[in-house]
Amino acid sequence: MISVESALDTILKEIKPLGLESVDIITALGRTIGEDISALRPNPPWDNSAMDGYALIDADAKGATDANPVKLKVIYDLPAGQVPKGPVKKGEAVRIMTGAPVPEGATAVIMVEKTSSDDGVVAIRSEVKPGENIRKSGEDFKAGEVVIKKGSLVRPAEVSMLATVGVPFVLVHKRPRVAVVSTGDELCEINEVPPKGKILNSNGYAIAALVAASGAEAMQLGIARDTKESLREKLKAAMAADCIISSGGVSVGDYDFVKDVLKELGSEMIFWKVAMKPGKPLAFGMIGGKPAFGLPGNPISSMVAFEQFVRPALLKMSGRKNIFSSAFRARLTKDLKVKPGRMNFIRAELASGDSGFIVTPLDGQGSGVISTMVRANSFIIVPQDSSGFKKDDLVKVQPFDPSILLKDEPGY
Ligand code: AMP
Ligand code: MG
Repeated sequence: MISVESALDTILKEIKPLGLESVDIITALGRTIGEDISALRPNPPWDNSAMDGYALIDADAKGATDANPVKLKVIYDLPAGQVPKGPVKKGEAVRIMTGAPVPEGATAVIMVEKTSSDDGVVAIRSEVKPGENIRKSGEDFKAGEVVIKKGSLVRPAEVSMLATVGVPFVLVHKRPRVAVVSTGDELCEINEVPPKGKILNSNGYAIAALVAASGAEAMQLGIARDTKESLREKLKAAMAADCIISSGGVSVGDYDFVKDVLKELGSEMIFWKVAMKPGKPLAFGMIGGKPAFGLPGNPISSMVAFEQFVRPALLKMSGRKNIFSSAFRARLTKDLKVKPGRMNFIRAELASGDSGFIVTPLDGQGSGVISTMVRANSFIIVPQDSSGFKKDDLVKVQPFDPSILLKDEPGY
């Protein structure tokens, strides 16, 4: 048996990021940028007003109070989207709207609430500091500055930046297309009523969903039967994709031919018993330059093996830099016992308690128990040599569920 760490290392050494394609910036959401993005123009493009108010010379408002306002002549109105009609001189002000360019000569903007106006004259009722309420040109970024670095994940903030610098299309890494093949004579399609002895092909859907949740594109190729011919046909078709995932048929059963057929199709298959629970049997190799994963058949084993090995591989193919799930420390709500010798991934419920995160291991840890997976939002990680933890121990927890960021009430 090899360790989880060394299996992951061996896999990732083989994986290369996919090539680039140009997409519109909304399609780019969730993808990795393949170029440095520089600004052509500064932002803000020119000094502009942060308030509706009056542009003036700050020294003119010196000593102004409610009781003793300073009166200035309003020389024109300046809505956003228009250019100043002329400079502001001593004793003058311009009625200015938020976002409008600050006229030459003006050194501050006073907010409208601190003024009153009457017939072309404004009464300034408070002092202003030099530069007050003026957004300076280039205070966000300068012309020529790199505003998004190559390798960044495109989030809504990056979309905002791309739109701000006037880039409608951007180079991003291609999304991996992933072929998903389920294997087993016992499998039926999920719209069938399974006869006795048969079960529904849930793994095909679970894995396709995990692929999609990793930002990749799943191609479900359906069920291969437990014959070399049927496996050969499906796995050959799978080679059209960027990555191949099968489930089942990698154990030591009499009909577990996935290893043989994968080997037949490519030269460098590696078969492992990985020291993890669930998820022990795993096949990995490169077929025609494409990674192929033979995941175990047990539903939870295949999902856990996906999270630990396939997801980082797909993220690396997608050009991402951070490809591993974070682990957080959380306080255990009850004792947890395991058999040492394998790294255990215990389905658990992570929650935010009054003094930090708390985590509860769930009942029903069998590798076929899907209801536990449905209740879980995270894995407690029990190291290979550990036999478990005691209540109130701080343990490492890997959340696998983005909905953990959402609650049934506001978080403040
Ligand atoms: P195997 O590794 O092929 O021996 O499968 C191990 C267990 O996982 C068996 O109980 C299978 O019935 C089950 N299994 C295999 N493939 C699937 C699948 N696509 N959907 C649900 N269960 C599966
Ligand atoms: Mg099987």
